[in-house]
Amino acid sequence: MSTIAAISTAPGVGGIGIIRLSGEKAFNIIEKIFIPKNKNKEIKGYTFKYGNIINPKTNEVLDEVLVSYFIKPHSYTMENMCEINSHGGNIVMQNILEVCLENGAELAEPGEFTKRAFLNGRIDLSQAESIIDIINSKTKKESKASLKQLEGFLSKKIKSIRKEIMDVMVDIEADIDYPEYDIEEITENKVDNMLKAVEKELINLKNTFDNGKIIKDGIKVAIVGKPNAGKSSLLNALLKEERAIVSKYKGTTRDSIEELMNIDGIPIKIIDTAGIREASDEIEKIGIKRSKEIADNADLLIAIFDISANIDEEDMEIIDLIRDKKSIIVLNKIDLIEENINIDSRISDLNKKIIKISALTQDGIEKISKTIVEMFKINEINIDDEIIVTNTRHKNLINKALNSTENAQISLENKMPMDIVAIEIKNILEDLGEITGEDVSENIINEIFAKFCLGK
Ligand code: GDP
Repeated sequence: MSTIAAISTAPGVGGIGIIRLSGEKAFNIIEKIFIPKNKNKEIKGYTFKYGNIINPKTNEVLDEVLVSYFIKPHSYTMENMCEINSHGGNIVMQNILEVCLENGAELAEPGEFTKRAFLNGRIDLSQAESIIDIINSKTKKESKASLKQLEGFLSKKIKSIRKEIMDVMVDIEADIDYPEYDIEEITENKVDNMLKAVEKELINLKNTFDNGKIIKDGIKVAIVGKPNAGKSSLLNALLKEERAIVSKYKGTTRDSIEELMNIDGIPIKIIDTAGIREASDEIEKIGIKRSKEIADNADLLIAIFDISANIDEEDMEIIDLIRDKKSIIVLNKIDLIEENINIDSRISDLNKKIIKISALTQDGIEKISKTIVEMFKINEINIDDEIIVTNTRHKNLINKALNSTENAQISLENKMPMDIVAIEIKNILEDLGEITGEDVSENIINEIFAKFCLGK
């Protein structure tokens, strides 16, 4: 394999920058471009040398650096590796990368270092995927769940299920190869027991994905309500209460903005419908259509009504919108009401959780996040002692394996010949092997690593 190089630190200016080299020629390239202060030429793994990076053609000094050495197989990629710790300026790092390339390295593709770690057998595919998840984590919980996956908890589970299946496969093969021995019934029992056990384990794994999805993708909440009900004020009050605006970015629905907050370590994306209201001033119908689009996209709707005014036609549209959706009703502007609040029966008849607030005085706001925690059982999500499937690709493969398990069970019940049952069982092995990468096509591998950043 070629020797690859890339800038591994994020683009932009920083205190230090790291240029990575991996492959057979890594030390050879370093020898050409690096003049250590200490002339001792011995290379030891896990050590640093201090010196200058030069352009060997001109002898020009490019930067003062520290170079770390990793001797194969004790490196990220299991190949010889060096990391040049330079000053973190774009030009400096670019210059150093260029001399690496001029002296025998090739520019790494995105994710190529991690791909090599996988191809060289240091980590399996699900562990490699967890590395992207660690990098992209938005919350502590997400990064912790991904770290557990990197440590191999999911891989071990998948491997143990595969082993359970392979052990029984041996009996099946014997049964197929030596039909004259009367072992069929014993084999059938064994297969049946194995399939039941595997089914149970796969269902358990599959069920962790609901929490896994929440940990990874968070919960999408849309605030809906007629103009002036208090949507923007509520959004501001919520964000203030949580004091955790992480970012503001364009939402998946046209013209929508998403605000990100964090409740108990779970990312909550609030879809800000402010932009939609502006559009709806022009053509009312578009506004309603877009609210519906947003409602379909959200995991939870917060419907807000102005309690100081009577329910009108526009409110009725909101009521229709949330009727069959997971939603909370918020009655806003309680500060304007003096006597006891009479809730309109068209609202109370919806049988949804009703929270009375004043977005202006912040009264009752904390009840909203509490309700979200209860509805999605956020405080029951425990990442410490269980494997959580967070990756959609893994979930789909677990479902596929579960299907194959059911098919094998049906074939067995219908007294199909053992070689037919064996085909279904091999399918389970293949589906699971695709998770860990033991049984996966090159296209899928390339697709997965293309999602990585350069230098990882
Ligand atoms: P939106 O159109 O639904 O986003 O509503 P806004 O949040 O822009 O609020 C409309 C108006 O109602 C603004 O003048 C707010 O100051 C006011 N408002 C919002 N919430 C409250 C509240 O709880 N009490 C009172 N008295 N006024 C509020």
